[in-house]
Amino acid sequence: MSIASGRPILAMPGPTNIPDRVMQAMMRPAEELSSQSIVGLTESILIDLKRIFRTQGETFVYAANGHGGWEAALSNVLSRGDKVLVLASGRFAIGWGEMARFMGADTEVLAGSWRAAVDPAAVEARLRADTGHTIKAVMVVQVDTASGVVNDIPAIRAAIDAANHPALFMVDGVASVGCMRFEMDEWRIDVAMSASQKGLMSSPGLAVVAASPRALAAHALADMRTGYWDWTGRMNTIAYMKHCGTAPEHLLFGLRAAFDMIFEEGLEAVWQRHAILARATHAAVETWATGQVLGFSVPEPAQRSPSVTTILVEGFNAATITDFTRDVCGVSLGLGIGDYTGKAFRIAHMGHFSAATLLGTLGAVEIALQAKSVPHGSGGVAAAVAALSAAVA
Ligand SMILES: *Cc1c(COP(=O)(O)O)cnc(C)c1O
Repeated sequence: MSIASGRPILAMPGPTNIPDRVMQAMMRPAEELSSQSIVGLTESILIDLKRIFRTQGETFVYAANGHGGWEAALSNVLSRGDKVLVLASGRFAIGWGEMARFMGADTEVLAGSWRAAVDPAAVEARLRADTGHTIKAVMVVQVDTASGVVNDIPAIRAAIDAANHPALFMVDGVASVGCMRFEMDEWRIDVAMSASQKGLMSSPGLAVVAASPRALAAHALADMRTGYWDWTGRMNTIAYMKHCGTAPEHLLFGLRAAFDMIFEEGLEAVWQRHAILARATHAAVETWATGQVLGFSVPEPAQRSPSVTTILVEGFNAATITDFTRDVCGVSLGLGIGDYTGKAFRIAHMGHFSAATLLGTLGAVEIALQAKSVPHGSGGVAAAVAALSAAVA
């Protein structure tokens, strides 16, 4: 029996639900690539990216997914043999570091946990020990989409400063930009990157990168640079060079509409909405967890991401729950990945997500728990409703 008719909900951490307005913005003929409309579109995206990243730095947009954004970020500031320090808190910084190694960097991972944020004191200690300043970049994710951890980026910045270390500070904001505070300039981030299909609620296919003046200085000396990703080429005033070829027109029109929606709601209001939805999700999970089968991946509430919640499942295959919500209720959750394969599922409350979308998602999980006889504390949805009511009262 399926009761899934109607629009499905993507409650997985990417891709996320694309608003109708964004889809409609893409439904148009292609245009001449040098038309004023396309040139102006690119310019407006690059300017508004500064508002999204909160920077006066240079911004870039690539026809690529997040992995392409990783490569863009690395190749523009590093040289082969450079040492990079990767701050682990799950899967994603590790993946970025693996890419750096593949490109010729000497990747060192500062060990971390899937259950807690990066410890700024450990970062400071490691950087203090690097008296010769061989570490050229510190790489971290703001939100690890696998573990559900949110890292304290300003605290890590402070740790780098306390060690008086000159390494570039590189931050992956794929699962956090457009979901929570991200202050590139205030936190003195040198290279920031994100992608279109999570908090930015657009089609997969665009990566966005921003560079500080220090990153641009490093760029001048970097030998990992390649033609497509190269910032110098893209800083050319000729519009064609901004994309190193034909603009990904439809994706840009979609992203433009998504930016318009974000600015109309207000970037800070968007962050606040995510915080409220996360709190309601936590209330539901806390209630379910009293059944001793489900539990938070991240015990410390302040270290849980406002965009995705990872839930550990003891003694049941997590796919029992995610298969059910998808097939019977039309709700796609994320499965555990990496160390959590089969042992966790993830609820993304990210991007184009409302209280109603969240309650539908949490309701589908609760139906799955009951229908599949997974022990759980009852009343998770009611707890979420109470949390939402308190937040908007
Ligand atoms: C999704 C994600 C990526 C990778 O993005 P793709 O578009 O899948 O290549 C990188 N970092 C984080 C934190 C992510 O959540």
